[in-house]
Amino acid sequence: MTQASSSVASFAELGIIAPLGNRLTELGYVSPTPVQAATIPAVLSGRDVLAGANTGSGKTAAFALPLLQRLSEAKSADKSAGVVRCLVLVPTRELAQQVADSFLSYASHFNGQLKIVAAFGGVSVNLQMQSLRAGADVLVATPGRLLDLLASNALKLTQVSAFVLDEADRMLSLGFTEELEQVLAALPRQKQTLLFSATFPEEVRALTTKLLHQPLEYHLQSEQESTIEQRVITVNREQKTALLAHLIKQHQWSQALIFVSAKNTCNHLAQKLSKRGISAEVFHGDKAQGARTRVLDGFKNGEISVLIATDIAARGIDIDKLPVVINFDLPRSPADYMHRIGRSGRAGEAGLAVTLISHEEYHHFGVIEKKNKIKLVREQIPGFEANAEIPLEVLAQEKPQAKPEGTGKKKRKQLPAANVEFWGKKS
Ligand code: AMP
Repeated sequence: MTQASSSVASFAELGIIAPLGNRLTELGYVSPTPVQAATIPAVLSGRDVLAGANTGSGKTAAFALPLLQRLSEAKSADKSAGVVRCLVLVPTRELAQQVADSFLSYASHFNGQLKIVAAFGGVSVNLQMQSLRAGADVLVATPGRLLDLLASNALKLTQVSAFVLDEADRMLSLGFTEELEQVLAALPRQKQTLLFSATFPEEVRALTTKLLHQPLEYHLQSEQESTIEQRVITVNREQKTALLAHLIKQHQWSQALIFVSAKNTCNHLAQKLSKRGISAEVFHGDKAQGARTRVLDGFKNGEISVLIATDIAARGIDIDKLPVVINFDLPRSPADYMHRIGRSGRAGEAGLAVTLISHEEYHHFGVIEKKNKIKLVREQIPGFEANAEIPLEVLAQEKPQAKPEGTGKKKRKQLPAANVEFWGKKS
């Protein structure tokens, strides 16, 4: 395992050529992030790479820059119909568009020499087929649409020289295992493979053994998390919406991304906030792709200031200078907590994550903390304090062994008061 050095001062020192370097200067990238410092030379050398990097760490550029460079330098590329030279597989449609946009942006000084195509579901397949007719130097795709295009002979993967599997853990947790197998079967044996994953559960490990040939491995501790201030507020369940509205109004954040656990909660919460004078849009998997794109674009360009989303927005999505992420409901998986909060504080900017927990979530949040090796102080907001005693209906939900014995009258539990602080009038 290799630890990245973050002492590299410039992209030129990593071997990045002028057309790319000049573009990075225009974009204001002064120096490489740790994941870029580690993987760029490795990818340029042609080796397989396994990288453990958190979202927001700059990992798109970590693979896009060296791959674009290699593609631009390779001689006599076959541009016949449907031939793909580099395939980037990502788990969600939004990420496919975002990664393709990054490739396009980084390649802008190659004067159209490299063709970059995005292919994902939910939109018409015809335009994507048309774009693939003259082949693609880079195809960024979600697995389902890629297989559809393959089945209709709109593309050929037999000449892929570089394959990137981005967010491999997410891909598997979304149930793409079978699709992934089919894509792998369509790829040539001889190719460079890069695998990025924030976490390494068993299935991802199995995949790395199968996919990678003597890879260079980098497991990077993102500096990003330390730039995100994390606050946890205890509140009674029925007061969560009022507290949320209070925080949004009090802090006057330019934008806020609010995570909830279910699609219908998105709509309910938006209605409740609207009654309190806060206009919010929703983003979840039941919305048509056109609407999803419109909402996300609106949020990215600042037209929408409050967005309520399910965990489909938790990964990969890059929103510039997002001041705050609010966990209205907890995510199921501890990893998703880190992904959610990573929407704020991108690329070293200061960020804030506020998590609202009601009694029934105390235990689960403890698990999230333990798994992520963090320990946060519980705070209270004056006027919205959680009852020190756990309400009876919450106690009733607990496991049988936790139920009080004896009298038949339920005993109430006390909160650990020493761990609660007041979050005063912070602006
Ligand atoms: P990613 O992890 O690829 O989603 O990147 C997160 C954000 O960091 C994006 O907005 C990138 O444009 C930005 N970024 C990536 N690399 C750098 C860099 N070296 N310097 C400044 N910003 C960067």
